[in-house]
Amino acid sequence: MKINRGRILITGGAGYIGSHTALQFKELGWEVAIVDNFSRGNRDIVARLALPVFEENIGDSAAMERCLREFRPDAVMHFSAFAYVGESVTEPRQYYENNVEFTVNLLNTMLNNDVGAFIFSSTCATYGVPASTPITEKTPQHPINPYGRSKMFIERILEDYDAAYGLRSIVFRYFNAAGAHSSGLIGERHAPETHLIPVAIHAAVEKKAMAIFGDDYPTPDGTCVRDYIHVADIADAHARGASALLSGSNSDVFNIGNGSGYSVREVIREVEEVTGLTVPFQTHPRRAGDPPALVASSQKLREQLGWQPRYPSLRSMVESAWAWYQIDRENQGHGFN
Ligand code: UDP
Repeated sequence: MKINRGRILITGGAGYIGSHTALQFKELGWEVAIVDNFSRGNRDIVARLALPVFEENIGDSAAMERCLREFRPDAVMHFSAFAYVGESVTEPRQYYENNVEFTVNLLNTMLNNDVGAFIFSSTCATYGVPASTPITEKTPQHPINPYGRSKMFIERILEDYDAAYGLRSIVFRYFNAAGAHSSGLIGERHAPETHLIPVAIHAAVEKKAMAIFGDDYPTPDGTCVRDYIHVADIADAHARGASALLSGSNSDVFNIGNGSGYSVREVIREVEEVTGLTVPFQTHPRRAGDPPALVASSQKLREQLGWQPRYPSLRSMVESAWAWYQIDRENQGHGFN
């Protein structure tokens, strides 16, 4: 597939998936600018990308208008969002404000400034508890937490905006992002860090028990099953999607996953093998909003956009997360509970 390049504005470029994608676009020769308000992104990580940054809130329409006028992007790629399933259950207001209201403001500002291409970070959480696996893009969406609902609402709004205003979009539904950039320059750093792989690595290093949230799910070992996907492979899908939009492709939706499910216990075992350490854990009650199993079919992404994951093995994801953890050791400690 021929890769087109253009000018792309990346919201949430200081976050985990946003920063890896921004770096990949830069490496591919795109003109990239980032918008981030640093409410959850990392200043030092984005500084390493050496890209222009607009420190603005995407909910601030006047500020976003200035960004669009100054940078004149061909497309906007929208990562900035709150993305903790558990938090969305206790703080839904924040999720609907940030993920829905502010995104609609951004879309409206794009329309007002004639930017007609949008790449949207959606999630497997929009599927809820799927009737069957693997999950395809046609699997009905019945999200079971506010995070998933907030993303699904934007997907519906994008359909309406395309039909009414011709705003073309590519929606990517991510499964579980993992790993770090191969250069060691950037990686995953959340505060708080709640994601399974970094939490398990931290538990092993600190010799402090982590929680397994539920071991009574209807899965082979009773713990939740997820489809882990390397962040570099997510970034690559975005390059293909953005390129297709610039060539005039229609709006579309793609899952990004590997099609292999791993249970929480299997991930913990992998972390033990990679680090050579023991991961101490205790079983806790189920975490609110967690479906038992989410495994993707990414056949559509492979067939239509020619995507091939470069790092499909759980081993390669855990190895790169472990390498990054050791590089970023000082910072990592702050984000863990
Ligand atoms: N999980 C866990 N203990 C932790 C963090 C996560 O048991 O400290 C489980 C979580 O309940 C889910 C899976 O690991 O079943 C992946 O969770 P994560 O937060 O990494 O990603 P999510 O699936 O919520 O996007």
